[in-house]
Amino acid sequence: MTATAKTTPYTYSFKKGDGKNKKLLGGKGANLCEMTQIGINVPPGFVISTEACLEYLDTKNQDLPSELMIQVKKQIKALEKDTGKGFGDADNMLLLSVRSGSALSMPGMMDTILNLGLNSKTLPGMIKLTGNKRFAWDSYRRFIQLFGKVALGISDEKFDKPFDLVKKREGATADTDLTANNFREISEIFLEVVQAETGSPFPEDVYEQLQLSIKAVFNSWMGKRAIDYRREFNITTDMANGTAVNIQTMVFGNMGDDCATGVGFTRNPGTGENVMFGEFLVNAQGEDVVAGIRTPKPVHELEQVMPQMYKELVALRDRLENHYREVQDYEYTIENGVLYCLQTRHGKMNATARVRTSLEMVKEEIITRNEALLRIDPEELEQLLHPRLDPESKQAPIAQGLPASPGASSGAIVFDADSAELARTAGEKVILVREETKPEDIHGFFAAEGVLTSRGGKTSHAAVVARGMGKPCVAGAEGIVVDVEKHTAQVGDTKLHEGDVITIDGGTGNVYLGEIDTVPPVFSDELRTILSWADEIAKLKIMSNADTVEAATQALDYGAMGIGLCRTERMFNASDRLPLVIDMILAKDVEARQQALDILRPIQRGDFKDLFKIMSPRPVTIRLLDPPIHEFLPNEKQLEQEIVHLKALKDTVEGVNDLMNTMQLLKRAADSKELPKPFAPGGRELVESAIAKKQQMLVKVRELFEVNPMLGHRGVRLGITYPEIYEMQVRAVLEAAAECYKEGFDVRPEMMVPQVCTSKELAWVRDIVDKVHAEVEAEYDVKLHFKFGSMIEVVRACMRAGRLAEHAEFFSFGTNDLTQSSFSFSREDAENKFLPLYEENDILQDNPFETLDVKGVGRLMEIAVDWGRKTKPDLKVGICGEQGGHPESIRFCNHIGLTYVSCSAPRVPIARLAAAQAKLTEKDYSLE
Ligand code: ADP
Ligand code: MG
Ligand code: MG
Repeated sequence: MTATAKTTPYTYSFKKGDGKNKKLLGGKGANLCEMTQIGINVPPGFVISTEACLEYLDTKNQDLPSELMIQVKKQIKALEKDTGKGFGDADNMLLLSVRSGSALSMPGMMDTILNLGLNSKTLPGMIKLTGNKRFAWDSYRRFIQLFGKVALGISDEKFDKPFDLVKKREGATADTDLTANNFREISEIFLEVVQAETGSPFPEDVYEQLQLSIKAVFNSWMGKRAIDYRREFNITTDMANGTAVNIQTMVFGNMGDDCATGVGFTRNPGTGENVMFGEFLVNAQGEDVVAGIRTPKPVHELEQVMPQMYKELVALRDRLENHYREVQDYEYTIENGVLYCLQTRHGKMNATARVRTSLEMVKEEIITRNEALLRIDPEELEQLLHPRLDPESKQAPIAQGLPASPGASSGAIVFDADSAELARTAGEKVILVREETKPEDIHGFFAAEGVLTSRGGKTSHAAVVARGMGKPCVAGAEGIVVDVEKHTAQVGDTKLHEGDVITIDGGTGNVYLGEIDTVPPVFSDELRTILSWADEIAKLKIMSNADTVEAATQALDYGAMGIGLCRTERMFNASDRLPLVIDMILAKDVEARQQALDILRPIQRGDFKDLFKIMSPRPVTIRLLDPPIHEFLPNEKQLEQEIVHLKALKDTVEGVNDLMNTMQLLKRAADSKELPKPFAPGGRELVESAIAKKQQMLVKVRELFEVNPMLGHRGVRLGITYPEIYEMQVRAVLEAAAECYKEGFDVRPEMMVPQVCTSKELAWVRDIVDKVHAEVEAEYDVKLHFKFGSMIEVVRACMRAGRLAEHAEFFSFGTNDLTQSSFSFSREDAENKFLPLYEENDILQDNPFETLDVKGVGRLMEIAVDWGRKTKPDLKVGICGEQGGHPESIRFCNHIGLTYVSCSAPRVPIARLAAAQAKLTEKDYSLE
């Protein structure tokens, strides 16, 4: 290199390259530099930068940058000096490996060329030098094949076939059974293969070999394999811009029995246990360990075969981990009793291992607590919180839908909620299979192990409810055609019947025939400890959405600090309550309605008491009734049908009675014998009253009909038009609290009002609350503390937050509705019709119902927090939409200073960790 400042450096010696600059040197190259510089024994070499690669790929004529080969030659001269060998020197040959490596590891993507520098002159020299013919010929045939494949594009098969023929002829089962002469013969055949395939002889000139290899590695960056891989794993060009090439002195693990090659992890990546982990082969080269040609031995056996080497390997492992402060995945070779490290990188591991190693590395003082918290991907924890399919199972799925709620479970198919409940009572495990589910199927969810639907998206009713309950759900499996009437489902050629056993995996969306074993979730002590550190760091509190005692119990176990959303209507849907709710809806006047409510109140009170006690002394936030009340009634079509059926039945009953009368006559004639009674007396009246009831419901359903129920008569509007309903709920909450106090429980009820858009609405409900509060306190003779708040889920509510805060002690963002109203998207329609297309074409980056839209909805939230706290500086503000369990959304909530996030119980651990990470990284937070 001339000493002009203009020359771009394309090459970096391992002794000089910046070990932190992975973008320039690739991951492998950067680590080789770093290891060299901290004194680990790495075979000497140099890196050709990714810049050189990009520049080469940019040029039309496919020439290497002219300056590049000049620099490469300089580096080779330096290597020759360091090793005392000569590149192409027949008496003392320097041999090289050519290895690719981009900034992000793309394992196995591009092949490595070994033993470069062998030719008809250096080969005899190698035999002379080592006195090992077999080794030399073995090295040669490897080089010809690898070079032929990588640099000349000849397929493996062209080499493997003749190789196998020789092996067969010799009766050799393993490569180790082959002799020097066999390898010589194979090498000669391989040279002919190259001649035949390329029309030219194998290149003899070592620099030509090198140049072709460098080009081949560069070209492989744009090869199909690499492009597919990058697409599959969403690696953008920006993240991994081109590949570097590492040129390194060869070391040989195949020169005899004091040689070996191996790969290892510094800890067990399956369990996280702090032990030596990996495999090795004595007298082997390169990829023999992973190629499966010979079965490698577990690393602890190295202790017996080469005790000194084992000791050094343990030292190497400690060194790597202490330096990189992360579990390492490393490769090494032992040449005549000398250990060389060939590669290291951060180890990939499963969630169990990630958690355990994080905890232990803190205890070993390798990393700090904060580093441990940042080291775990919160989403990864999902793996630990649900049963998973046994990873050993290799069965193929029969259908695939959307992974709507994680976890795996098996059971017999049922096609409706009632059958699910029945089967459950009989002790059977079932999977509820439907086209789609509705609120009235709720008891089926409780009874089933999991839910499978053939329609609907990740936020369909089935998906949302199943997630809330922590039950597996596969939604929108369109390959399955459900015939509800016939109670069958068709999948391809297979017809499924009620009772057939299937397995669903809500983590992948796969559906399998038969039962597949699952491995249970482990909420380990290690995870508990780490999450307790997270809680100490986090600013946000983590609450859970929970409507039942079971969900609350799970939420508590997962570390929820309270309930952020209890939807009272879920309690109404239970099959023993629904008739009462219907009575309340059908009531002709306030008195009749009050009667029905009086029966409902103690039931709700009981529900609240159970929740309060379990959560004591944590807050429990009750949302007053939200959905339009016609949701509790059957739909119009169904009712009309039923009435037709009942009328037909009435005729039948009359017919039967006529028959009976006739029979009496016949009987008298035929004398004595007792005749059967098909229907008990009063049957006709029963049918008539059934018809009357259904007709009454039908009238009501028609009366309640709304063009757009989600924007209609619901939430606080319902509470204002039927104040007695809200009053009943408020009374049930406060009575429950009073009774809990009396029983010695410290409870923190909070009540919030849904769908509020003006402060007058809030004031109206507040009046009810104040009145009932005074009455309940007097009745029970206790002082009751509670909080009163508003949901913020209407755009206008955000704009009026300052006024709303005058009447509210807390806000809770209902970001599902707020997203709908901000975008004017109805969620179901959006997800079923156009959102996938929007995401595909990058019109929207994410589904805003899954990931909070921080730029739009988020701005509204920010304003609402701001204005709300201007009125009331200590205003508590949280989020209870589904996005509340999403790490990215949690970062945003931390950023705008929310007090808490509330999410479904199974997301609580994820949210706890994400909240700590949000706090730890808040300084770097930016909206772009
Ligand atoms: P990959 O990216 O697929 O892991 P590598 O560049 O690590 O490819 O090369 C594969 C294998 O080739 C290594 O694991 C090592 O066994 C062998 N190898 C690479 N370079 C050398 C070398 N300089 N000396 C000996 N073996 C080498
Ligand atoms: Mg490797
Ligand atoms: Mg809502």
